[in-house]
Amino acid sequence: MRPFTYERASSASSAARAAAENPEAKFIAGGTNLLDLMKLQIERPAHLIDVNGLGLDEIQLTEAGGLRIGALVRNTALASHEVVRRDYALLSRALLAGASGQLRNKATTAGNLLQRTRCPYFYDPHQPCNKRQPGSGCSAIGGFTRQHAVVGISNACIATHPSDMAIAMRALDAVVETVKADGSARAIPIGEFYRLPGETPHIETVLEPGELITSVVLPAPAGGTHIYRKVRDRASYAFALVSIGAIIQPDGSGRVAAGGVAHKPWRVEDGDKELKNGAKAAAAALMADARPTEQNRFKLELVERALAAVIAQARG
Ligand code: SF4
Repeated sequence: MRPFTYERASSASSAARAAAENPEAKFIAGGTNLLDLMKLQIERPAHLIDVNGLGLDEIQLTEAGGLRIGALVRNTALASHEVVRRDYALLSRALLAGASGQLRNKATTAGNLLQRTRCPYFYDPHQPCNKRQPGSGCSAIGGFTRQHAVVGISNACIATHPSDMAIAMRALDAVVETVKADGSARAIPIGEFYRLPGETPHIETVLEPGELITSVVLPAPAGGTHIYRKVRDRASYAFALVSIGAIIQPDGSGRVAAGGVAHKPWRVEDGDKELKNGAKAAAAALMADARPTEQNRFKLELVERALAAVIAQARG
């Protein structure tokens, strides 16, 4: 690991200001992804700003009847919270489908949202990768692509976003709250938070330099049946080939987001609209404009099958 300097932030705004002033600085909280990347020298921060002491680790009811989740709430605490289990079961189930108990004990809400892709070429410094080194090329295109994205891809990158939690947050219409380097706050709907790869796959969110996530707000409970279905190559400790996070109402309407298929949690208006018409129609809407490779074409059928299972489960 390369040497780095370290400071403990005393407030969210001072942390954001310090990060904005030093382009080589990174925030650290749980560190479950960042430390791995630093050991491989894929991330090379010269300075770490530890935000663990900022007190952003509470879960509170909002005046609108929703939930404000502090950025530093650990995944285990979030998954086991009484209100989350009762009213946002999709979130609890997605969290429990991700990583191991040890990782969930350390990983934070904000860190989970910001974790980097698990594209194997991204983790191999000997391979060209536009996300790791802009302009160097994409080794996955024309390479091994079984795990890669099928929708929203570009000619520069076909990586997927690895988070299970983010799929649930997308279906729940979460809002990401931040503080910027000038001390101002903003609220970003999660549907606008992530970017598609385009020509700049190394820029993954709309966060500005130094901007720090302080909390994630869930709107009032949507009711319905909450299901998270994750299909993977082995039963635990594996990322999704395809996952479906859905909230299905008694009349068959609902919301659906898919994981393992795109650079961000994938939800489209027509996917929600077609849910009432069954898995085939909803999957076709979700996978419209898909550009699969020969190796990951199976994901199109897998999305439909996973959706069919989710709808059948919701119908009991
Ligand atoms: Fe890098 Fe993206 Fe290509 Fe993977 S898919 S090698 S992350 S540019």
